[in-house]
Amino acid sequence: MKRICVAIDGPAAAGKSTISKIVAKKLGFTYIDTGAMYRAFTYYVIKKGVDPKDEKASCALIPEVNIELHKDGTVICSGEDVTKVIREPLVSGNVSYIASYKDIRLALVEQQRAMSKRVSVVMDGRDIGTYVLPHAEVKIFMIASAEERAHRRFIENQEKGIPTTLEDIIADVKKRDTIDSTRAFAPLKPADDSILLDTTKLTIDEVVEEVMKIIKEKTE
Ligand code: C5P
Repeated sequence: MKRICVAIDGPAAAGKSTISKIVAKKLGFTYIDTGAMYRAFTYYVIKKGVDPKDEKASCALIPEVNIELHKDGTVICSGEDVTKVIREPLVSGNVSYIASYKDIRLALVEQQRAMSKRVSVVMDGRDIGTYVLPHAEVKIFMIASAEERAHRRFIENQEKGIPTTLEDIIADVKKRDTIDSTRAFAPLKPADDSILLDTTKLTIDEVVEEVMKIIKEKTE
């Protein structure tokens, strides 16, 4: 069978990872959560006592950072299991600074492209359809209203035991979207050939169904 790349981009908490995981499983594709890589890098920067707003000092850590994404969702950063800690507010609040640094992006994008070389993938992020995999067979730009996104992330955090308030989440999502879409290098934006999917009023099952339909249409 031909190798297929499915790129799913969109703003924070639009449901990309939930849907990507399910769709990848259904299709037997590898799911690649690129946001987890930027989060892991951010965690490492903070752990080292470096200010994430300091581009030079953050980029100097590139040779030390080794990120592994495991099939079961575990994220290892330079030997440490960071799966849980990268979802904490301290990381969420700083990740967009780290993700705006070109050298860090280039290092992580190289790894993302390498991971999609031999297998079919569902990759989610901000720049997958525009920059990481510009030749992806399927490109979806997933959106939802700001209220719906914040509400979903609030429930998700509660389930994961991450203490946050709805107000904090609204502020975090807004801040990240602004930084992510206005950065100079590979900003968040829909690829010209992407399909816009508004999930605001849809259930998870409905979004999965819609995505599966799009993939079928694009790959048949
Ligand atoms: O997907 P998630 O919300 O976990 O991503 C966390 C952050 O990582 C985003 O807000 C963005 O700053 C950055 N990111 C990115 N490019 C990607 C994936 C994530 O800049 N492909």
